[in-house]
Amino acid sequence: MVQEDDDDFRILSLRPMSLNPRPTSLSVNGNEKELPDESVLRSLSTGTLKYPDDDIFYTFNSSHLQDLGPIGNGCFGTVYKMRHLDTGKLLAVKRIRCISIDHKEQIRLLREHDTIVKSEKGPNIVKFYGAIFSEGDCWICMELMDISLDALYKRVYTVKNSRLHENVVGHITVCTVDALDYLKKELKIIHRDVKPSNILVDSHGSVKLCDFGISGQLEDSVAKTHDIGCRPYLAPERIASSDKYDVRADVWSLGITLYEISTGIFPYKDVNSPFDQIALVVNGDPPILRPDTDEFGFNFSLPLVKFINTCLTKDRRLRPKYDALKSFEFYQIYSLGGPEIEEAKQVLGVEAVDARDNAVDKRG
Ligand code: ATP
Ligand code: MG
Repeated sequence: MVQEDDDDFRILSLRPMSLNPRPTSLSVNGNEKELPDESVLRSLSTGTLKYPDDDIFYTFNSSHLQDLGPIGNGCFGTVYKMRHLDTGKLLAVKRIRCISIDHKEQIRLLREHDTIVKSEKGPNIVKFYGAIFSEGDCWICMELMDISLDALYKRVYTVKNSRLHENVVGHITVCTVDALDYLKKELKIIHRDVKPSNILVDSHGSVKLCDFGISGQLEDSVAKTHDIGCRPYLAPERIASSDKYDVRADVWSLGITLYEISTGIFPYKDVNSPFDQIALVVNGDPPILRPDTDEFGFNFSLPLVKFINTCLTKDRRLRPKYDALKSFEFYQIYSLGGPEIEEAKQVLGVEAVDARDNAVDKRG
């Protein structure tokens, strides 16, 4: 699959080298000198943790992390709550199975991400602290949030028979569009896996995007060996594999996500198999949200409907990018702050704690 605007993407290897004390004889330009396997393994399984509010770089390996149990499973691995013993800080650690990724590739990934993501300051993205390869897995250490939007909305709609009101959806929309725009403009990254389980919420009602960068890259490589059922939010142009894609593929996934959290229903839920869904996404009409429908038992405002349906424009050439989305009335209403947003954050924070404390199972 091809990404459009390739020139626009950060050339990762031009960034300064890592502060991580990995062997200097291994270059990142593809001319790696062969090192004994054991020393490579040792270098991969030791890394540095860096927290944004702390100047110290902590050398760590898996023995510095105390496992406090799983938070949830995904297609590619499991996320655990862990304590970093040197600082007592609680982390989310995502372990992705990557036996199929060779050591050169592992070193390249670690070098790139050690330098890049730790220094970034986007307000609506989950902070990355560091990563290692250990026991055949990549361990990605990140900021611990309370719950994913996936688990939260399912509890609100199906267990509590309630809904997420438009100010809450508006707050989530603004945070997510800002995060995606930041990733693109500052880090030159297309997210590629926007969906409710990759949007996390905390008890203050903060909304943050996760699973970009090293996590997204690893999942992309591992995904080649998985069925497409793991990627039900893919835009039509990404399924039709010879097509090019750009940020507008993420805008489509955002549209599906917003439809889902506004209605409580995944728009392709009645489709029998992942294969049928692919056929429908590529050949069928896109999902449409109507303002006055009885289907969901509640109405939607015109600005919300217009925003979501425009994200779900099937022809990507007609689908807006982030600057255009930011001029939509729905974005503008909720980007101004004020009492409606304060109320939305409060409600979302309460729902986050409730969903975290009443998890039905560990599957996000
Ligand atoms: P998929 O593998 O299909 O992309 P997923 O996003 O649900 O699905 P993971 O990314 O492995 O899979 O995450 C599993 C669950 O762990 C998520 O649903 C989320 O609830 C939780 N989670 C992930 N990252 C964090 C984090 N930083 N803080 C708190 N919980 C997290
Ligand atoms: Mg995820």
